[in-house]
Amino acid sequence: MTTPNYRALLETAIAEARQGLAEGGIPIGAALYRHDGRLLGCGHNRRVQENDPSVHGETDAFRKAGRQRSYRDTIMVTTLAPCWYCSGLVRQFGIGTVVVGESVNFRGGIDWLREHGVHVVDLEDAECIALLGDWIAAHPEVWNEDIGAD
Ligand SMILES: [Zn+2]
Repeated sequence: MTTPNYRALLETAIAEARQGLAEGGIPIGAALYRHDGRLLGCGHNRRVQENDPSVHGETDAFRKAGRQRSYRDTIMVTTLAPCWYCSGLVRQFGIGTVVVGESVNFRGGIDWLREHGVHVVDLEDAECIALLGDWIAAHPEVWNEDIGAD
């Protein structure tokens, strides 16, 4: 099985993050792909837009993808390392691979995912780091709310 071009897949998640930013929301996006490169669903954090703390980039992409018989062969691509809630989703459904744009602004559950056999790829992408980092600096209180920090 050939390795997909993860950076190319990340573009979909970045576009979602930028859409979230344009909507006045937290710029985090995600996309769920099949290993063969087929896009199943994509989405972005809409905590602010919909007053819904359960809509993270990953959960949005997961829901948009609809029912899948198996997730072993899927790749969750996200602009930021997944939080505990979304890391739990990855393990609950057995998503085989997680590609993160960055883990500088937030490390989330990537060590825990790796310990449990999930293939985690961190692209350390400068665009993702700047996009969210600039936003956090301007909106620290909304960010703390999103990650459940007091
Ligand atoms: Zn999350």
